[in-house]
Amino acid sequence: MDLYEYQARELFAAHGVPVLAGIVARTPDEAYEAAQKLLADNDLLVVKAQVKIGGRGKAGGVKLARSAEEAREKAEAILGMDIKGHTVHSVLIAAGADIAEEFYFSILLDRSERRELALCSAQGGMDIETLAREHPEALARVGLDPKVGIDEDVAAQILGEAGFNRSHVEKLAPVLVKLWDTYRGEDATLVEVNPLVLTEQGDILALDGKVSLDNNAAFRHPEHAAYADVAAQDPREAMAKEAGLNYVRLEGQVGVIGNGAGLVMSTLDVVALAGEEWGVKPANFLDIGGGASAEVMAKGLDVILGDDQVRSVFVNVFGGITACDQVARGIVGALEALGDAASKPLVVRLDGNKVEEGRAILAAAAHPLVHMEETMDGAARRAAELAANA
Ligand code: GDP
Ligand code: MN
Repeated sequence: MDLYEYQARELFAAHGVPVLAGIVARTPDEAYEAAQKLLADNDLLVVKAQVKIGGRGKAGGVKLARSAEEAREKAEAILGMDIKGHTVHSVLIAAGADIAEEFYFSILLDRSERRELALCSAQGGMDIETLAREHPEALARVGLDPKVGIDEDVAAQILGEAGFNRSHVEKLAPVLVKLWDTYRGEDATLVEVNPLVLTEQGDILALDGKVSLDNNAAFRHPEHAAYADVAAQDPREAMAKEAGLNYVRLEGQVGVIGNGAGLVMSTLDVVALAGEEWGVKPANFLDIGGGASAEVMAKGLDVILGDDQVRSVFVNVFGGITACDQVARGIVGALEALGDAASKPLVVRLDGNKVEEGRAILAAAAHPLVHMEETMDGAARRAAELAANA
């Protein structure tokens, strides 16, 4: 999970990395209010677009302001801006720094070397890809011992390789150690500071921050759940995630439910092929997993039937450990539970363990929306046709 700059700054502050004060604003008026608060202790402010993409400065998403009125104007210009396909929904109003020198520092997971890598340069500000291409000699790359990470000695070594002099090393080393604390303590896979600056007053500050958290360690950090970008997420994807379903929304008309990722993927293929004739496509990927209980089936159907683009649903189940009779009872139970909410035709193909019993259960229920098909290709065609004629 990638974080916004303001969230990265929060984590930096919690680990003792020096950052300046900042307040997030979603409207020009909020920006004005935030600026008023910050101007009590600062002369210079920066208004910064909060988007999860670099190069905001060049795109006009980072502007200086010296009054609350100016902060409001700059926020108005930046909010709603499109930066490389990312719409700006909020800005960070931050105290500004008097920059004397700009540096670059990052820690990332080097998967091919199976360890962390620190990158450091005395030439900050420009983007790292450009720096690596045009001045590779100015970019120190130091592989880290996972048992040590970055202590004062390792920090001094990294800074030495990047060509910093003694006085810079003394000031920067403790900050590098704290950035390692952030990386390790938060279970990150990336911590990048560009620019890390030396101010005219002689202080070191992290002026920008990019942090990616390791989703596999999420269970160790319940507090990180607050960083999930709920607004940006599709509401159905959020609902499916909560129910423990593996769901991805696509652009199409045929809802697809199956048990097992491989089966669902091949179901998408046959639906796409069958739908070509009518310009019909699969509307989603939804794997309900091995134990397709009535409850899980109901949740899956609920997610799919609530999607406006869906015209028909293809339920493709191969009975294995979970036999077809249980699956059929699941479908019948789900339709009962959903009642009037189930309003779109359902094409069901069952095969495998206890297929006859399963089909008998569906036949006995005789639900008007359920169409049974014997083969996967036949069912795909039927579902596509129903969607085309809906
Ligand atoms: P990015 O372009 O997305 O990486 O955004 P940054 O946060 O790195 O800001 C871009 C540039 O704006 C920096 O490299 C600085 O030159 C400038 N900038 C950012 N914050 C300040 C500040 O507090 N004071 C001054 N003078 N310039 C700043
Ligand atoms: Mn930057």
